[in-house]
Amino acid sequence: MADGPGRFAVVDPATGEVVGEAVDQGPRELDGAVERAHAAWRGWRADPAARTAALRAAADAVTAAADELAPLLTREQGKPLAESHAEVARTADRLRYFAGLTPESRTIEDGRPVRGEISWRPLGPVAAIVPWNFPLQLASAKFAPALAAGNTMVLKPSPHTPLATRLLGAVLAAALPEDVLTVVTGREPLGARLAAHPGIRHVTFTGSPATGRAVAAGAAASLARVTLELGGNDAAILLEDVDVERIADRLFWAAFRNCGQVCMAVKRVYAPARRCSEVVEALAARAKDVVVGSGLDPATRLGPLNNAPQRDRIADLTARALAAGARAASGGHRLPGPGHFFAPTVLADVPPDTPVVTEEQFGPVLPVLPYDRLDDAVEAANGTSLGLGGSVWGTDLDRAEEVAGRLECGTVWINHHAELSLAQPFTGVKDSGVGIAGGPWAFYGNLRPFVVHRPRPDPGGAAA
Ligand code: NAD
Repeated sequence: MADGPGRFAVVDPATGEVVGEAVDQGPRELDGAVERAHAAWRGWRADPAARTAALRAAADAVTAAADELAPLLTREQGKPLAESHAEVARTADRLRYFAGLTPESRTIEDGRPVRGEISWRPLGPVAAIVPWNFPLQLASAKFAPALAAGNTMVLKPSPHTPLATRLLGAVLAAALPEDVLTVVTGREPLGARLAAHPGIRHVTFTGSPATGRAVAAGAAASLARVTLELGGNDAAILLEDVDVERIADRLFWAAFRNCGQVCMAVKRVYAPARRCSEVVEALAARAKDVVVGSGLDPATRLGPLNNAPQRDRIADLTARALAAGARAASGGHRLPGPGHFFAPTVLADVPPDTPVVTEEQFGPVLPVLPYDRLDDAVEAANGTSLGLGGSVWGTDLDRAEEVAGRLECGTVWINHHAELSLAQPFTGVKDSGVGIAGGPWAFYGNLRPFVVHRPRPDPGGAAA
């Protein structure tokens, strides 16, 4: 099966084999999807109780389809099957969480002769554009709050991972009214067209900062609301009193889970200079031990990179770091075979101005950098254009929290990293994004306030 007019092949990153094909939808199909989303909106926004029931049924349908969704996700994305199952479970949990939210109406009484009644209204059809690292989970971070708020949605997955999302769309369609959620598939310019579509009232995007800028520029044409969840270059700062053996597993997996393709993975480690080699050795020992292979093999802990361009970027960043004087304490090279595999790599002696430190690598390569003064580590951690998350690792938790407060980002963890509650806000500073995902903040991000001022009853009892 090869690419052809109107369709494109989706490749298994572990084998290079074709998993399936998807339709390359054009402007006519997109216009139709947006028009149908408009038509479906009227009924969907009208009945909050029916909405809650439908979203709960949708969550149950996702759970029931886990044994079909998870293997397909592994085959097109590459992650171990257990992690695909966790992603499907998170998708269902998120639907259940948002199905239970209702907007809070409020009355403003401030002594004036009128009082303001504030309620919340949905926006209309919302566009969601998502990347290939967590196709289902990130899609659900968009459709669960948007639909719960009474909007309809047109969802575009990455062309690297459209198949599990298309199946998820079919599973959800069986539980939701027709056209409340439509999945469109295709290569560019489909995303650009969707972001700029005049029928869309909110564009919610997850991906790289460069594409985020293009999406915002496209949405500006119709002045649609924009939410952008962009990249990260999270630093983990280890304090002098850190117990390296105790935290090493957690730190390793915070960097390498999903083959490092996690926006809020640990992407740089800063260790006190006199503890640095101990940290490098502990992480490299784990990198050498980890089983790398096809995500369908139950022994596999680390799959391939999702696609060839990303594998080539990782190879290039690593080669540049090694050429600049870094040392690979583990890995440092591609693995043989047809898949997009790269050996888990821990880099020591990395010049701090090397791109693998200053840019987001998004792969299984982790630089460990020494620091002499804690202030220097904090300054370096804050010294990139990104500010998604960060973490501080040490034994004295009060001291760790004091350091955490100095990091310029949206979320800081102490002695772990990248664990999120469905109920928390998730956001970044600088180039890491605009708007808030997660919790009630994501729900209200899909609503607009509507205010009615009415006269207060006069003291005599008659309304003016
Ligand atoms: P990407 O920006 O290349 O693509 C993201 C999506 O945008 C895909 O669906 C793609 O097809 C689409 N797209 C491409 N060009 C477009 C255009 N001009 N207009 C509209 N849509 C367009 O990102 P990627 O390579 O798929 O994913 C990796 C990036 O995503 C990393 O930077 C990572 O940090 C980021 N990410 C962020 C979060 C977060 O929540 N902050 C989560 C996961 C991934």
